[in-house]
Amino acid sequence: MSRIVYLNGDYLPENEAKVSVFDRGFLMADGVYEVTSVLDGKLIDFAGHCIRLGRSLSELGMKNPHSNDEWLAIFREIVARNAVTDGMVYLQVTRGNPGDRDFAYPSPEVEPTVVLFTQAKPGLADSPAAKTGWKVISIPDERWGRRDIKTVQLLYPSMGKMMAKHAGVDDAWFVQDGFVTEGTSNNAYIVKGNKIITRALSHDILHGITRAAVLRFAKEAQFEVEERNFTVAEAQQADEAFITSASAFVMPVVEIDGAAIGSGKPGNVAARMREIYLDEMRKAAL
Ligand code: PMP
Repeated sequence: MSRIVYLNGDYLPENEAKVSVFDRGFLMADGVYEVTSVLDGKLIDFAGHCIRLGRSLSELGMKNPHSNDEWLAIFREIVARNAVTDGMVYLQVTRGNPGDRDFAYPSPEVEPTVVLFTQAKPGLADSPAAKTGWKVISIPDERWGRRDIKTVQLLYPSMGKMMAKHAGVDDAWFVQDGFVTEGTSNNAYIVKGNKIITRALSHDILHGITRAAVLRFAKEAQFEVEERNFTVAEAQQADEAFITSASAFVMPVVEIDGAAIGSGKPGNVAARMREIYLDEMRKAAL
């Protein structure tokens, strides 16, 4: 069965969906995206992703083409049409096709381009990696300065993933001025005793939807949450480390730059937070 994708109001077989070569997403990376997980056919933290989408669009001076209710209907339709049980919905909104290339933004009458597609990932929540944990390397953070906007400008994170791959590890953590910012596509945490430490929100990192939920659940579970900078050296001395993202949920990190963290095995805090996150989010799924 061919995958059905959404393009500007139509549900089309993937090979029939076409976007102009003049689309600003293609020429300028002038667009934003969201990745929302699907578990048991339901959307995980849809409201959070919808709010961040609205913020990303507004920071770039783009209007939101749909209300939250309309987005929900489109998300549900694309999940249903592709019979996704476990997987992801990818959504992208670009500034559209002005009919030519120009650095200046086109007039607001140019309609945005809206694309959604699904990725089926059977057993997404039972990833074997959650039992063994990820190894990461640290690399300089050479991204632009507005990482809080979820743009499709992902070349440096892609390069980071390739550096990790070539180093034989699972991911890379970015470091800026001596402090860890975040992972290539996730937020980074360390654990010391009862304390969960993660960088505070600013323009330096993406405001993870999973991060917000995990920190809320961590406080409810009586963990102490400290939002502050940490170094790679501090991470290497920590009891545990983990990352969060909408598609990896809570994933333990067991090694940074070749140094084992704690026992070198996934820690109890990461395992507990993963369990709480998945339980609570499944209950609230739409
Ligand atoms: N930071 C970056 C750079 C990311 O790309 C992502 C995932 N898109 C995250 C953090 C995690 O965000 P979320 O929990 O909303 O998936």
